[in-house]
Amino acid sequence: MTWAIPASAQPFLPVAGSDQKFPVRRIYCVGQNYAAHAREMGSNPDRELPFFFSKPADTLVPDGATISYPPGTSNLHHEVELVVAIGTGGRDIAVKDALDHVWGYAVGNDLTRRDIQAEAKAAGRPWDMAKGFDHSAPCGELHPVGETGHFKQGRIALSVNGEARQTSDLSDLIWSVEEVIAYLSSLVELMPGDLIFTGTPEGVSELTHGDHCVAEIDGLGRVETHIEAE
Ligand code: MN
Repeated sequence: MTWAIPASAQPFLPVAGSDQKFPVRRIYCVGQNYAAHAREMGSNPDRELPFFFSKPADTLVPDGATISYPPGTSNLHHEVELVVAIGTGGRDIAVKDALDHVWGYAVGNDLTRRDIQAEAKAAGRPWDMAKGFDHSAPCGELHPVGETGHFKQGRIALSVNGEARQTSDLSDLIWSVEEVIAYLSSLVELMPGDLIFTGTPEGVSELTHGDHCVAEIDGLGRVETHIEAE
């Protein structure tokens, strides 16, 4: 048997300090997982169960890339997030076992067409075109958990053209990494290669042509993204 057309390339994250690549299967994302961001989005940050959406794996963009301003929007937003890479899959994973399934961590930027998302929310429609568009998932190198340990606190920040836009601490996550893994695995079977974008803190704002966006988390380095000039 041969492929009828050339098979798609395997999406991956580079592994920090190594020539290895981590093959990415799916990208799950958590909505509104920091109280102050939930409030700025007009929601109540009480501890309701987390909710999820997805991005296709081929939306990943490596550190230092220049992306064109996406079509169909006039309100592109940045969202710095802690990204969890799953090394061992499972379903109905217990909270106490959840961190054993983590292979590593990275810094990600959940780029969002906020105007399309607002229309989708108002009409009760899906978020796919707001969240899963081409080049919507800049992500830095993956750091193996054996080298960094787990991330329960630490500075998470994003600047645009050198100006601070988002500054928070991972300890402000409403649902912790282990709780997110446990709950997500009750809805879908997690598999090796899955990524989870764990949600963004407050301060999301607009990106425009020519902007230079730097997302960073203490201990995980940074992911830089340039938006092509007009
Ligand atoms: Mn997000």
